[in-house]
Amino acid sequence: MSKKNQFETDAVRTQLERSQFLEHSSPMYLTSSFVFEDAEDMRASFAEEKDRNIYSRYSNPNSSEFIDKVCKMEGAEDGFAFASGMAAVFSTFAALLQNGDHILSARSIFGSTHNLFTQFFPQWDISTSFFKFNELDEIDKLVTPRTKIIYAESPTNPGVDILDMEALGKIAKRHNLLLVIDNCFASPYLQQPIKFGADLVIHSGTKLMDGQGRVLAGITVGRKDLIDRIYRFARITGPTLSPFNAWLISKSLETLAVRVDRHCDNALKLATFLEDHDKVNWVKYPFLKSHPQYTLAKKQMSAGGCVVAFEVKGGLMAGQKFFDSIKLLSLSANLGDSRSIITHPASTTHSKLSSEERAMVGISDGTVRVSVGLEHIDDIIADIAQALG
Ligand SMILES: *Cc1c(COP(=O)(O)O)cnc(C)c1O
Repeated sequence: MSKKNQFETDAVRTQLERSQFLEHSSPMYLTSSFVFEDAEDMRASFAEEKDRNIYSRYSNPNSSEFIDKVCKMEGAEDGFAFASGMAAVFSTFAALLQNGDHILSARSIFGSTHNLFTQFFPQWDISTSFFKFNELDEIDKLVTPRTKIIYAESPTNPGVDILDMEALGKIAKRHNLLLVIDNCFASPYLQQPIKFGADLVIHSGTKLMDGQGRVLAGITVGRKDLIDRIYRFARITGPTLSPFNAWLISKSLETLAVRVDRHCDNALKLATFLEDHDKVNWVKYPFLKSHPQYTLAKKQMSAGGCVVAFEVKGGLMAGQKFFDSIKLLSLSANLGDSRSIITHPASTTHSKLSSEERAMVGISDGTVRVSVGLEHIDDIIADIAQALG
């Protein structure tokens, strides 16, 4: 076969070699360790002369299948699968940085990642400076001799701002820095950061990848030399994905494309509805023409994603009344689930930030984030319409 498969085909057809039972669907390998044929096999395996499974903290067939799939989807050389998105974020930085090093991060990032940078990394003398998503020209001034990594998410959470990854890639190259992108909001189906110059791509598999709110998972994919350093760190420290969760999420990826298509159709319809609503101050969705970076979003993504952000008129009181009137949508903190989820970032995901920090990333008291699910769009809109009153 010379022709490269399409995305959907790799998602469905990347699988483990069949066992003696000729199973159609990949089996689950719930085993902590693997056996050696003899003393020489054992020696050679530990000497890494063979590419084989030894112990499930290092590798397991189910996580290998998951990693293979995501590498094909992202156009990456190699990867490592983690127990959660945050395990992937932490291990990636911990493996690549040492004390004295410096991170340049976009200001609007996932709340726990922000806490990691500001509250924990300083314990190991790893510092972080932040730049605004639309002020990439400022980055040059923030680079120090100890800067190692530029880090960003696009679209951002919860403001769905778009960062120009090609511009970030050029800046990273010019200063000999690594570009690491958290691609969890888009999923590899909508956007592949490596094409724009990313060295590593991180995902919380918990979101669109599983897409059904069942498991926590994370993955980092990208350049082989960097993944090798991450692997060395992870096999010693043990943040590895379990075989059960790997099996489940690998299966989930078979339906990623069809699910994400519907998520995006529904989200665009909801955003369009909210744009005309007189109880709504503003609505933001990457594929709405009114989005300030609509052109950039169109360049980087093939559709707008599942998250819509908007502000209810009337401040905190009106916001609380709105949330209390929601009947169908779940008040929950996850996203990318088949069930639509509605959250209030100021009191949940970003509650650990000070109110000034929240204001700087564009989160007001009335900001609402909807992760638009796979229910019929008429029912999703009807629920939000009745809650707006
Ligand atoms: C959820 C999330 C994470 C963390 O993933 P977990 O699987 O919850 O640990 C990281 N980045 C982004 C953008 C997320 O939405």
